[in-house]
Amino acid sequence: MKGQSINCCQICGEWKQEGIHVLSSFICKGCEREIVNTNPDDERYQYFVDRMKFRRLLNQTTS
Ligand SMILES: [Zn+2]
Repeated sequence: MKGQSINCCQICGEWKQEGIHVLSSFICKGCEREIVNTNPDDERYQYFVDRMKFRRLLNQTTS
């Protein structure tokens, strides 16, 4: 590692260097692609949304 920051992916929970930040959440490249390719009507899409909401909830209660 060369001082690059790694982040814990909000969806899969793995530590990755590459990804995007959405609001206060980090999402790795792989999961980002999955979300983009998932239809909002799909059950799985709701799962992604719930994961992100859960994290936001945690942030609120700890601060
Ligand atoms: Zn991920």
